[in-house]
Amino acid sequence: MANMDSTAPSSPRDTSCPVHLNKQMQLLHTARNTASFEPFELACLIYGGADVVGNRRAALERVETLIGTRDTSQIPRSYANMNREQAYDEGLEWGKAAFEDGIRFKHDFFAFVTPRFQLVNSSPFGMNTVMFEPAIRLSASAEQQAKWLPLSKSGKIIGAYVQTELGHGSFVRGIETTATWDSDTDEFVLHSPSTTSTKFWPGALGFSCTHGIVVARLIIRSKDYGPHLFMVQLRSLDDGRPLPGVELGDVGLKMSYNATCNGFATFHQVRIPRTDMLMGHASVSHDGTYEGSSHFTQLSYSTMVMVRAIIVKNVVFQLAQAVTIAARYSTVRTQGMGPNGLASAETCLIMYQSQRLRILTLTAKAYAILFASRTCDAEYDALRKQQANGDHTSLPYVHALSSGLKVWTTQTAADGAEDARKCCGGQGYLAISGLPEIVASVTAATTFEGENYVLCQQVGRYLFKCIDQLMQGKPIDYRMAYLAAGYQKWFAASFAASSGANITPCMAFGKEFLDPNTQLSIYRHRALRTVFKAYTAVRSSTKPPLDAWNENMMSIISAARAHTEYMALSFYIKHVQSLPTATSPALTTVMARLCSLFALSNIINPQTLDAISFVEDTHLSSAQLDTIRGLVNELLDQLAPELIALTDAWDFTDASLCSALGMYDGNVYENVMNWIRQIPMNKRAWEENKGVYQPGWKDWIEPVLKAKL
Ligand SMILES: Cc1cc2nc3c(=O)[nH]c(=O)nc-3n(C[C@H](O)[C@H](O)[C@H](O)COP(=O)(O)OP(=O)(O)OC[C@H]3O[C@@H](n4cnc5c(N)ncnc54)[C@H](O)[C@@H]3O)c2cc1C
Repeated sequence: MANMDSTAPSSPRDTSCPVHLNKQMQLLHTARNTASFEPFELACLIYGGADVVGNRRAALERVETLIGTRDTSQIPRSYANMNREQAYDEGLEWGKAAFEDGIRFKHDFFAFVTPRFQLVNSSPFGMNTVMFEPAIRLSASAEQQAKWLPLSKSGKIIGAYVQTELGHGSFVRGIETTATWDSDTDEFVLHSPSTTSTKFWPGALGFSCTHGIVVARLIIRSKDYGPHLFMVQLRSLDDGRPLPGVELGDVGLKMSYNATCNGFATFHQVRIPRTDMLMGHASVSHDGTYEGSSHFTQLSYSTMVMVRAIIVKNVVFQLAQAVTIAARYSTVRTQGMGPNGLASAETCLIMYQSQRLRILTLTAKAYAILFASRTCDAEYDALRKQQANGDHTSLPYVHALSSGLKVWTTQTAADGAEDARKCCGGQGYLAISGLPEIVASVTAATTFEGENYVLCQQVGRYLFKCIDQLMQGKPIDYRMAYLAAGYQKWFAASFAASSGANITPCMAFGKEFLDPNTQLSIYRHRALRTVFKAYTAVRSSTKPPLDAWNENMMSIISAARAHTEYMALSFYIKHVQSLPTATSPALTTVMARLCSLFALSNIINPQTLDAISFVEDTHLSSAQLDTIRGLVNELLDQLAPELIALTDAWDFTDASLCSALGMYDGNVYENVMNWIRQIPMNKRAWEENKGVYQPGWKDWIEPVLKAKL
């Protein structure tokens, strides 16, 4: 039966197998002990030290105990007939517990993820940390920050970030809500002029938030200054009623995110003080004079960069959770007599090479995201320091980096979670596997905070601007040195002239493909080729720029993807090569192999978007691809014994996984049937009617059986 304390032990493992374990539990116990390293060591690497791991565990224990999820012998409430309102009520209960625990025990473990490790905007209290406070910090004046931030941090106001409208999401300049300055009263009047201007989607907007940062067009004396940010109180702090002129509500059931109240709002001539416009970088004085910083646009990008960095850093947990469940399930479930059907005993799923490839490459991708997010964070921190001194030169690079990584990490996590679900066969389709909820919630991140296909084009635009600068003989950001070098060596010399393929075959063979420099050169070649190809196609087109862009959009998206994957691989390699000196040799070896698996499987695995771009110019021959396939198989064999430790290291509690398939004990079948028997429909049928579900049988089935048609 389910385990109350389900995280990886912090002391060396006892490898003897207790006799009371059933077959599945024994299989997982054995697999856990084949690892060459201690998962706790890796957990410390993931979370930043033994202290952090310990404090995190304590926080989870407190919150899970409070919300009643720690006893996993009980079916989670969300799997037992929850309607829309009950789901929201549970979200409120969990959100409050997590928020208050953070304040009381002074930690930020739940600042960006929920106790289920979903992004925190899926909680009714989550918008404060993920959007509301960042927007205040980056767009409000010092005086406004001093007024609003303490209120938000202490939970005295609950925030929402209210930008998207029914008619416009990706295209922010199309927003219709107006904030018109009234010279008589020195106020702004917020108004929704049309149905399409209804604010639609913001997290917590329906019934949780008290305040919203509302994006509206600033109008002064009939002049439209475009979208600006306004702090608007939406509900009474006393009784929660919407303020006069404000209509608020919930957008209804969604694929996921049902624990929060993504909402809609309309404004009917709602008045706010002039001083409630966020005036960090643009201001309106009492005589209606508008002043915008020359860096207004760049500075508004800073909020997006920050939020994207938060997403990049936290979306990894959902992929890691899905992989943890799939890895544990694949270790304990046996199915068939081996690949050729001739094995002497039934075979664990994980012994099948296809299953190994899928689950281990997903594991490698989770670590790739983890390390990429570290670089993204570091770049963002450096940018903030520079911006504090008035230097915005790094912003375009960091904006493109965070955008590219947001796309790549969310897509990788969403696709990966879905494949992990498929790895669990029919049982993965059960709600109680936890996987449908993970898949449905993680996929939302591909849409919000910059829809992925739209964001890819922003990365493309940045890359094109870099090449434009190179064409003019100007320098580009030093972190884009590879593009400058590629330009000198390749593009300027031949590509521009011929606009054809510049075939420089990869010369590596055999084990050389395990060399990170070889791997990087393959990714670099692909990035340069696709970027220059897209650039040439767009810039040399005789069509109007708009049409040229649209016609070549998939090449641009492919180039942005190739560039981002090159960056992600270089970050992964850099981090693996600079692990803390105290890291054990065993873990160092495993991390290096995992990184190689990521690099090489990405080339040969057709699941990768536009994987063909690695080979379409014959940079890699079919013999080389066979070599890579062979090396991937070797890596899979080497890493298979490490799989359970690699997933245990994420240190998820059973309560946070919320999965009958993925519990730490491996007791899958007992756990499934234990929860299934608690489903209200089953309980009711057996407790009240000897296994007959009433009134269904009486009202609908019996009449059919007994009808004389
Ligand atoms: C769970 C969730 C939470 C959210 N939370 C918030 C929130 O807190 N606050 C808030 O303000 N909003 C929020 N949103 C809204 C979200 O930010 C928008 O849905 C998102 O920006 C996409 O905009 P859209 O819905 O208008 O999609 P559209 O822009 O209409 O996109 C639809 C399709 O058109 C394509 N498309 C659009 N423009 C282009 C283009 N230029 N080039 C190529 N293809 C294009 C897209 O790729 C996509 O396939 C949330 C959404 C979700 C799902």
